[in-house]
Amino acid sequence: MRVEQLSNEDSPVPRPQVGPNTRLAHGPYDPRSQHGFVNPPVVHGSTVLFASTETLRNRARATFSYGLSGTPTTKALEDALSELEGSAGTILLPSGLAAVSVPLMAFLSAGDHCLVVDSVYYPTRRFCDGTLSRLGVEVEYFDPHIGEGIAGLMRPETKVVFIEAPGSNTFEIMDVRAVSDAAHACGAVTMMDNTWATPLFFRPLDHGVDLSIHALTKYPGGHSDVMMGSVSANNATYGRLRDTQMQIGVNAAPDDTYLVLRGLKTMGIRLERHRDSALALAQWLEGREDVADVLHPALPSFPGHALWRRQFSGASGLFAFRLKGEARTAASFLDALRLFGLGYSWGGHESLAVPVDLSDRTIAKSSGDGALIRLQVGLEDVIDLKADLEAGFAAANTL
Ligand SMILES: *Cc1c(COP(=O)(O)O)cnc(C)c1O
Repeated sequence: MRVEQLSNEDSPVPRPQVGPNTRLAHGPYDPRSQHGFVNPPVVHGSTVLFASTETLRNRARATFSYGLSGTPTTKALEDALSELEGSAGTILLPSGLAAVSVPLMAFLSAGDHCLVVDSVYYPTRRFCDGTLSRLGVEVEYFDPHIGEGIAGLMRPETKVVFIEAPGSNTFEIMDVRAVSDAAHACGAVTMMDNTWATPLFFRPLDHGVDLSIHALTKYPGGHSDVMMGSVSANNATYGRLRDTQMQIGVNAAPDDTYLVLRGLKTMGIRLERHRDSALALAQWLEGREDVADVLHPALPSFPGHALWRRQFSGASGLFAFRLKGEARTAASFLDALRLFGLGYSWGGHESLAVPVDLSDRTIAKSSGDGALIRLQVGLEDVIDLKADLEAGFAAANTL
């Protein structure tokens, strides 16, 4: 069967400047192009039919040519994320971790040197020390407080500088512009894992970063029911990123993509609640006798607070605190919690708490005594979350 090709416009028409929540609520697709339905269709597909041998021959120029390279569903999410990040293009991957590994593979080859911040998400380190090392890439970790000092670590063969800010579990804030400028001066590409802030609270490309990485599993999905990742790239890096994605053969599945598109619609208002509740709890924890330290970038007492204020427009709902006492205290505290679930990942509607292990660090080791606990503050009522934490403290203090 022959079908008429739809028009193949590659990128959406630029939209007028509107606020972030308006952007999230509308488009970037046009409901009139989908029979008036408000949301994009969930397209399941492998084959795309061409109208003629001529269009088949020119398929590289078509918006859609094969299921693996994208569908109207994946394009709707890619376009939404590109708008939020201010990027030339976005690719989707089946997990946040794949959104870390694919760009690293795209820009590194045997003999290259890669600089990675020491407070990086642990599975990123595992990929660097495992697969990248095996493929002949030399990986070097650096202090998250290095700032312009990164220039001293650059070598002719340094091809990638990988950062994450705030740092995983310990929330160090980096001077993103200083690191990007130093990397670019030596011809290296910068990548930033921006999962914590989402593009609503930080836009890496505005600060000189080339590729912005997200675990969409977290706030964009927002309901602990889907896994996905994305990489949004500037003009200089997008082509190579997309090409590598297609060489490896990974993309996001249609139903999962739909869940993330749906999650995005409410991400703005959810984040406001995560932000406010987490800060209220962080302030309350800071005033307690049985808490040694609270690691939350929006607290004025936090060492990276000024740097956070200068660069970020908000704080999300993930932070950590140090209990006075060691591992046994932390276990009693955590086992007494009822609303805070004990489990990994974050960004969903429900609160979570986990003990933090920093033994993978080589530079940014723990400063201070006491067991470190990470909280993901969900959408519950703060008064109930406080009561739950009180029960944890009561259990820890009767040891
Ligand atoms: C969760 C997370 C990832 C990985 O996302 P998954 O979808 O769980 O693979 C990557 N980076 C950061 C900072 C994360 O928190």
